[in-house]
Amino acid sequence: MGRKSAGAGAGAGADGLWFPAGRKVTKPQYNRQLVCATLHREGPSSRVGLHQATGIPLSRLSEICGELIRDGLVRESVVAPAEGSGRGRPQALLEIELRGLAAAVVRYDQSSIEASVADLAGDVRWRRRWDVPFRGPDDTLRRLVTAAKQAVAAGSAEGLRVAAVGAADPGTVDVAAGRSVRAVSMPGWRNVPVVERLAKATGLRVFIDRGDGWQALGEVMFGAGRGVQHAVFATLLEGIGGGIVESRRLLAGRDGSAGELGHTRVSDDGPACGCGGRGCLEAHLAPARLVALWRGEPPEAPVRDADRRFSEMLAAARGGDAGARGVLAEAAGRLARGLGNVVSLLNPERIILGGRFVEAGDAILAPLNAELPGYALPELLRGVDVRLAELGEASTPLGVAAHVRELLFAPPSAADRPPALAAGRRAGRAGDEP
Ligand SMILES: [Zn+2]
Repeated sequence: MGRKSAGAGAGAGADGLWFPAGRKVTKPQYNRQLVCATLHREGPSSRVGLHQATGIPLSRLSEICGELIRDGLVRESVVAPAEGSGRGRPQALLEIELRGLAAAVVRYDQSSIEASVADLAGDVRWRRRWDVPFRGPDDTLRRLVTAAKQAVAAGSAEGLRVAAVGAADPGTVDVAAGRSVRAVSMPGWRNVPVVERLAKATGLRVFIDRGDGWQALGEVMFGAGRGVQHAVFATLLEGIGGGIVESRRLLAGRDGSAGELGHTRVSDDGPACGCGGRGCLEAHLAPARLVALWRGEPPEAPVRDADRRFSEMLAAARGGDAGARGVLAEAAGRLARGLGNVVSLLNPERIILGGRFVEAGDAILAPLNAELPGYALPELLRGVDVRLAELGEASTPLGVAAHVRELLFAPPSAADRPPALAAGRRAGRAGDEP
């Protein structure tokens, strides 16, 4: 279910942090990654606990842990014994130093560029935004390089070790190739080598994904989906985007576009969509269309200032305006059709609604919950919890932080096991196949 790792670039400052998976791995490198993965997966542990979990001898473990502490990847805290436990001695616990590690993030679209830094514990530590209209791919790439360098410098100034850079793209991406394939809102932005350019400029590993995908991952790992293994995220802005998160990873599909909910068809003869099709979910729920319906105007008529008017309509709905509520209930019916199919297809435990769905609140949630049973198997729908997103714009940098964290502390695979370990005693549970 996991995606291919699309990191590129040899990091001057951070490459020592990364396990050299796929290359020749030495026994100390393998054991070091095994210790990190065990601490990440199982939480704080004593050296004895780590020895039991990994099979690495205690003398070697002390050496590895000392090195990880010096490198700022692990910290040690002394915990007093639990009362009544009968043990008198305080215990030294080791844990991953998530607050000291960070991801730098650049997000871009046709009207703005934003740079931010998020630590791997889930806090946005720095953020800056530039309102700049799109002036062509070269100009945007140049600005992205500047923004990424600023974010990396800001992270260092905060005392953070920046492990990687993430790019949040407004269009479709090829995750494995590290390219932005196309963004409809940015004419001429096609097949752009974002990862290569940012890796060269920063010397760090760089990951690209759809902005909606990063948001989905951020919400599931740090927001409305905390603790959930199977979640679907849908967000409404001008269009509808989404993402699918399975076991702490964003489901990629072939290129990285899995979860493009906006263009699932929810009617045969519905409104025309920007993609050239008809009856797409995002065509039915386009804010401009909903505003026109509310005002009794032809739904195809262009609505000026649709953003602000949509806010007015949502405020009216929250205030009990029957017309606005009716339009949203109709929209919720279309959304139920789309999400009902998603429930049958993916069997999620939670659905998270972000973007302007949050602003609509109960005016969309209540009719959606009422309509969903008409479109999904009852046993699959049972227990599916539909919630509003909690993080707002922070979900993008936090999604990148979650991705970097999961990759940085991934267990080494059996294929990475050095021959000396593979031939001898099995190195321990964490690296074994299930
Ligand atoms: Zn469409």
